[in-house]
Amino acid sequence: MHVVVDFDQCDANGLCVDAAPGVFELGEDDVLRVRAEHPAPALWPAAENAARSCPKLAITLRDDA
Ligand code: SF4
Repeated sequence: MHVVVDFDQCDANGLCVDAAPGVFELGEDDVLRVRAEHPAPALWPAAENAARSCPKLAITLRDDA
């Protein structure tokens, strides 16, 4: 899995961080960062929840293959 965020759409509301703290984090500057661009399979369900929870539809999950 490859986690891609459209930062032009992201408003840093942190919902994806709540859903998948192993994949996303908010920096002290309130800018979203992707902690795991290629998360381990154990984190995929959380990453999928995060993508669904993003009100800006800013998260895309791609197959690595
Ligand atoms: S849920 Fe979407 S808009 Fe909110 S911080 Fe995450 S990527 Fe950005």
